[in-house]
Amino acid sequence: MFDTMGRNINYLRISITDRCNLRCRYCMPLEGVERLGHNRILTFEEIARLVSIAARLGIRKVRLTGGEPLIRRNVCQLISYIRAIPEIDDIAVTTNGSLFYDMAEELRAAGLDRVNFSLDTMVAEKYHYITRQGKLEDAMMAINRALELKMDPVKINTVMIKGFNDNEIMDFADLAYNKPLHIRFIEFMPIGDLKFWNRGNIVNSSEAMSIIKKRYKLVEGRTIKGSGPAKYYELEGGRGSVGFISPMSNHFCGECNRIRMTAEGKLRGCLYDKTESDLMLAMRNGASDEELGRIFSSTINNKPDKHYMNTGWGNENHRKMYQIGG
Ligand code: SAM
Ligand code: SF4
Repeated sequence: MFDTMGRNINYLRISITDRCNLRCRYCMPLEGVERLGHNRILTFEEIARLVSIAARLGIRKVRLTGGEPLIRRNVCQLISYIRAIPEIDDIAVTTNGSLFYDMAEELRAAGLDRVNFSLDTMVAEKYHYITRQGKLEDAMMAINRALELKMDPVKINTVMIKGFNDNEIMDFADLAYNKPLHIRFIEFMPIGDLKFWNRGNIVNSSEAMSIIKKRYKLVEGRTIKGSGPAKYYELEGGRGSVGFISPMSNHFCGECNRIRMTAEGKLRGCLYDKTESDLMLAMRNGASDEELGRIFSSTINNKPDKHYMNTGWGNENHRKMYQIGG
């Protein structure tokens, strides 16, 4: 389905839980997080129904995110429900990787196509610091497991934060040179736990790229499955690629193909817009498939032309990243 800007909206990102087993400093506060009771989040059957309605309107690709999606019990069952929807041709997960190693084969058997891991540092102490409770070893074992199982492409999300990991940009490029991994450097956005964010902490994609160019020749070209807003470059002679996601320095909204659904069943046209429609309420009040379909259509039609992250909306944002799904 095309929105009013002519963008083909075919990608639905679903936050399946707002809970997480880590507490990344920029994303989630350590304490005071309200826990949604089970009856306040969509059941797997409800999610599957909504995905099949969205699929009839043109959604082809689904990503499960959170919070940490792999902590939701029986997540493989949800993946198999979505796999059974014929129009959906791509199912992906974004995860911190902490639980992935033991679940990998079951996830794949259920129908998962691919996975994005979040990894901001490759130094164990720094990993523990930024996630407040994570172990680097778990994340690295998970990434290697996905490679062993030939889940392709395996992508890494790295949020660049000045003074924290900007000195590791070349190490991540080296990783992409040596392994078939696609490292996506993401500009730090004013969303989440804003105590940690400030404008001076942003590392622009262009800065990261010029660091990498000191060692590698970047070759433009190949499209990587699900490339979305990232601009990818291969490292000449290397096995993987580096990509740059530049929400702060370069609007990519003209190419945005996604809508988002929260664990509470709120449908959003943009990560950074407050407008939401309540699919859960409508569904639990007995809405028909056609009525729910109209909520999807209207969200797509009213999708903002662009985000306003650079104009200081952050402080008003009542939803955090772990509640919307990154
Ligand atoms: N728990 C999963 C994970 O960490 O991959 C999925 C949810 S997490 C909210 C999704 C992504 O959002 C992560 O890659 C995280 O680094 C990113 N993220 C969170 N807050 C961010 C911010 N302020 N700016 C940029 N990316 C952010
Ligand atoms: Fe959890 Fe992911 Fe947020 Fe970290 S970024 S606190 S792992 S939801």
